Amino acid sequence: MPGRTLPGPDRRGLFIGGGWRAAEQGATFTVLDPADGSVLASVADGSVKDAIEALDAAAAAQKDWGASAPRDRGEILRKAFDLIRGRTDELAELMSLEMGKTITEARGEIAYGNEFLRWFSEEAVRIHGRWMHAPDGASRLLTIRKPIGPCLLITPWNFPLAMGTRKIAPAIAAGCAMVVKPSELTPLTMLALADILNEAGLPPGVLNVVPTARAAAMSEALMPDPRLRKVSFTGSTAVGRQLVRQSADQLQRLSMELGGNAPFLVFEDADVDAAVDGAMLAKMRNMGEACTAANRFLVHSDVAQEFAEKLANRMGRLVVGRGQDPGVDVGPLIDERAVDAVHRLVTDAVRDGAQLVVGGTAPDRPGYFYHPTVLLDVHHDSEINGQEIFGPVAPISIFTTEEEAVRRANTTEYGLAAYVFTRDLARTVRLAESLEYGMVGVNTGLISNPAAPFGGMKASGFGREGGFEGIEEYLETTYVALPVTLRQAG
Ligand code: NAD
Repeated sequence: MPGRTLPGPDRRGLFIGGGWRAAEQGATFTVLDPADGSVLASVADGSVKDAIEALDAAAAAQKDWGASAPRDRGEILRKAFDLIRGRTDELAELMSLEMGKTITEARGEIAYGNEFLRWFSEEAVRIHGRWMHAPDGASRLLTIRKPIGPCLLITPWNFPLAMGTRKIAPAIAAGCAMVVKPSELTPLTMLALADILNEAGLPPGVLNVVPTARAAAMSEALMPDPRLRKVSFTGSTAVGRQLVRQSADQLQRLSMELGGNAPFLVFEDADVDAAVDGAMLAKMRNMGEACTAANRFLVHSDVAQEFAEKLANRMGRLVVGRGQDPGVDVGPLIDERAVDAVHRLVTDAVRDGAQLVVGGTAPDRPGYFYHPTVLLDVHHDSEINGQEIFGPVAPISIFTTEEEAVRRANTTEYGLAAYVFTRDLARTVRLAESLEYGMVGVNTGLISNPAAPFGGMKASGFGREGGFEGIEEYLETTYVALPVTLRQAG
């Protein structure tokens, strides 16, 4: 067992107003190791009162922070980027312990998540207003960009760092103060990030982190507060819908990064080996616990057998085990409920007539593991095609025409990511235009990039993170009308 890089008790509290403290009445909750279910650490369990104090701190910091020099904000982000890069190994171990992913994957997430700090350190100094002549020439139209104000940022457990930096970095760059609520399943990485941003010189109150095991009570208390101007949420569609409803009274600006059901389309002209490589990435990144994970493989009948055999061969060779152990490819799922849900979807699909090519069981060992699984000839209406699997299972269904592939790909309430494998350029353009998804990967299984606008449509939510769009979510616009007299008086 590698040395445990857990933060000391003084770094497992609430981070409010630039300092660490205990939760009201010393309440704590425990974080478990998904590899064996053992207790890793106890963390302060923020109450409603604690959350309101965090918002007090953010509101108090907002005015000065919003008026700070963009270059100073950028420099803090850049310094934090350098610190994280230097501490990749310890952060990777911490993330792997609380979330389960392998050290290699954790290092990958740290590199990816950290890039949001660098990207937005560069964007902080490129916040543009506009100056234009009104069409009738009688006035000038000026726009000023302003930080939207205190934000509530809620993140899930599957990418404990990157889902935070994707929100925190643009909020800092734009000049917003914030309250962050990490997932109760993986709060330790977020607390480590708070420590690093503090060390990088972020002024007290700009970033406040409140872990809690009582998320619903916290959002119910904060959302009616008129000081809160923005909510950015990454998580399930069900919770996203609740937050949208709760935002109605104060009309907070919202960003919603919700669930997905990504189709992975392989056409008859595709390079099948490249499609298998892409499938391994799109399916197995994060053990399948990604909103962008390929959820439904739609494969042309001419290549379905070959694709299934090659994919099953690769999946069957993956080593399942504790994420910190050398040679392991696939770590545990997040909890027992996740394993049960994945297994139920697999059994349902087989009952509906699917052929189990590889996997289909949980290994007989403690912890929340599931064998990489490939199912062929899955019925299009099987439940597994309609739900986010969030596990290492690749269900393959067969199509025969492009029209059918697009229709089936779009037959879902979700619209986050889609993948297409084809060598036909005209078809690629047709697909990019007709697939109802916020992101389309062409002959690749990896689409996330800090410089690109990440986000979905339909039940996958709205708003974009990263890219030039990411900072817009944290800015307001004031338009100033300036009438002008074109001729000089007299
Ligand atoms: P979840 O919705 O259960 O929890 C997400 C966060 O919301 C957690 O911090 C949780 O404590 C909090 N929460 C739960 N109930 C709440 C409430 N009533 N009010 C306020 N906060 C509440 O989701 P999860 O299981 O942590 O994450 C998995 C989901 O996240 C999947 O559906 C996945 O697709 C989605 N996800 C989406 C993206 C994206 O960018 N679109 C990225 C990662 C994950």
